[in-house]
Amino acid sequence: MQSITVERVAVPKEKPDFSNLGFGQYFTDHMFLLDYTEGSGWHTPRIVPYGPLTLDPASMVLHYGQETFEGLKAYRADDGRILLFRPQENIRRMNRSNRRLQIAEIDETLFLEAIRALVREDIDWVPTHPDTSLYIRPFIIAVDPYLGVRASHTYRFLIILSPVGAYYPEGIDPVSILIETEDVRAVKGGTGEAKTGGNYAATIRAQVRAKEKGYTQVLWLDGVHRRYIEEVGTMNVFFSLDGRVVTPPLEGSILPGVTRDSAIRLLTSWGVPVDQRAISIDELVEAADAGRLSESFGTGTAAVISPIGSFDYNGRIIPVSGGRIGPLARRLYDELTGIQWGKREDSFGWTLEI
Ligand SMILES: *Cc1c(COP(=O)(O)O)cnc(C)c1O
Repeated sequence: MQSITVERVAVPKEKPDFSNLGFGQYFTDHMFLLDYTEGSGWHTPRIVPYGPLTLDPASMVLHYGQETFEGLKAYRADDGRILLFRPQENIRRMNRSNRRLQIAEIDETLFLEAIRALVREDIDWVPTHPDTSLYIRPFIIAVDPYLGVRASHTYRFLIILSPVGAYYPEGIDPVSILIETEDVRAVKGGTGEAKTGGNYAATIRAQVRAKEKGYTQVLWLDGVHRRYIEEVGTMNVFFSLDGRVVTPPLEGSILPGVTRDSAIRLLTSWGVPVDQRAISIDELVEAADAGRLSESFGTGTAAVISPIGSFDYNGRIIPVSGGRIGPLARRLYDELTGIQWGKREDSFGWTLEI
């Protein structure tokens, strides 16, 4: 493996107030860089002071969006250990996204070592307050200076770090969700299952409309029938119906969340049956009307588990578990965060010490 060189900052930045971090607003002292040149592959891994990039204005990523990204966290345990949660899953997923976007894949060993080396370098930035963590954002951009649509011959891989608090300032309180009936996020055959910037650019309009109406997030329906439930904002979504848990299947348009997979494994280990199957909005409305929808929640690295208190479907309000957090969401949140912060037994072997 190529060794990572380190250029340290002369003067470290002042740390933000760890009790009031918000999400994704502060960045640490260093960043990781790696370059790709066709013919020589990925080369020159290095940690350098965090700072602006110099990019040719014709860089392909700025025009055609050839890029991929990831998101994971480092957690500070009470005994001082710094833990990553299933980082290999993010690494593998990024390479799957890279294949979809025709970006050169990254060596998994170097990728993991880069995360560890960078977090070690900025270890004082892993916040200490309850419910805080260090968000890790790897991403790759196409940097050929060229105005034409084709695969780039050069790429840059970066990792930046951001100390974060809870994703929702309202904490693990249930959120209200607007079901989006006009815009769609993804279709099968598109890029929905890849973590690539364009997917998110296309969702901003619906998000703004939802915010204006007082909703926290939108629920996406499938792009063909506008009937089947896909995701909630940037989270996978789960429903508890008649003692079974239902989540939409991964068939190309849905992002395969690491938290989604972890929730399925935990629920299954508790004896709660989980069905990965298509669920339509009509089924959801009917189940809610019949009192069979006992809870619903979103899953994602940023918010972990986000209970849903109500849906708005074309102006009709569908209440869920009386607007309170349901028992499964509560138990999943406690178990997942317990494992992530090293407070509970990690029987699945999900955490990795830095
Ligand atoms: C990242 C993401 C998720 C959640 O994935 P995790 O690996 O659990 O963080 C879900 N949906 C979308 C669209 C995402 O971008």
